[in-house]
Amino acid sequence: MKIFELIEKLAARRNLSDDEFKTLLTNDESDEALFEAADKKRREIYGDEVYIRGLIEFTNYCRNNCYYCGIRRDNKNAERYRLTKEEILACCEEGYCLGFRTYVLQGGEDPYYTDELICDIVSEIRRRFPDCAITLSIGEKSKESYKAYFDAGANRFLLRHETACDAHYRMLHPESMILQNRKQCLYDLKDIGYQVGSGFMVGSPYQTIDNLIADIRFLQDLQPDMIGIGPYINHADTPFSNFENGSLALTLRLISVLRLTFPYALIPSTTALGTIHPQGRELGLKAGANVVMPNLSPVSVRKLYALYENKICTGEEAAQCRGCLERRVRSVGYRIVTSIGNVIKEKNDADLS
Ligand code: SAM
Repeated sequence: MKIFELIEKLAARRNLSDDEFKTLLTNDESDEALFEAADKKRREIYGDEVYIRGLIEFTNYCRNNCYYCGIRRDNKNAERYRLTKEEILACCEEGYCLGFRTYVLQGGEDPYYTDELICDIVSEIRRRFPDCAITLSIGEKSKESYKAYFDAGANRFLLRHETACDAHYRMLHPESMILQNRKQCLYDLKDIGYQVGSGFMVGSPYQTIDNLIADIRFLQDLQPDMIGIGPYINHADTPFSNFENGSLALTLRLISVLRLTFPYALIPSTTALGTIHPQGRELGLKAGANVVMPNLSPVSVRKLYALYENKICTGEEAAQCRGCLERRVRSVGYRIVTSIGNVIKEKNDADLS
């Protein structure tokens, strides 16, 4: 089948074979047509709206030792910090005034934040900001813990599966981390009633095209509400310090393929994309992304949440970031809206009928 026919097939919501996905992902001659088809699909469902999520990176302590991550436990060069409940609430307050209606609390897996403390923080945010979504991104926990956070008022959870292949997962993580656990967490979260986000890095060390096809297949099974992908970016203080960054072209191609495969999904144009290219986030939006996640963390700690090198937006106040993004989003024909920005499921169901 010709590549343009493959794009049409995907846009018509017909599944592709592994070989067909492979052809789409490895061919750079049809990128413009692919981006256009993805943008059309996104506009059919979400119009020109871009949802903003206020990211609060509340701890960079982590008990895990992922080989790719700058805040891994064994990085002794990382200067560690934690935000107090009051500091987190102050970030939310500022975010609310700037038009944010979703807070994303992200951090390393830090045992200091017991379930009790997480529930206390979540329920206070819920009490003060009843019209906002609370998203957690705090790693692998028991189903009971996830349920407790949900009952306290959290309603979304982001947990990238990182790679859907056991062998590849082993190359990226130490023995103590098990892919099956991570996948189970995602199904548990769905079962509890969270809006769930998963995803993976593009161009992570040892990744093959077959791995990426497996990622798409896993997502087809999970049917997440949100899909976060971004290029792998090097960090000198990790065992992967000699590996190259993931590519802009492949990340954009994947965003389009994901938009066409999961038309309803909330797909962020990530900070990592903006880090590998000055217009990365704008290009991500044009390729089908519909979410941006500006940083609401206090400027004093921004540089310390260094998952990778040269991370952008670490020196600006939240209001500056918000203004800058507003202009960037408008420059490519979309607009940031003050909205909780829930997933549009009804249209997805209609599409499938
Ligand atoms: N601890 C939580 C978890 O495991 O989901 C959230 C924090 S974790 C640092 C957030 C994400 O950062 C990971 O899912 C991973 O995909 C991404 N990340 C970590 N190191 C990265 C790197 N070097 N380049 C790009 N993304 C990276």
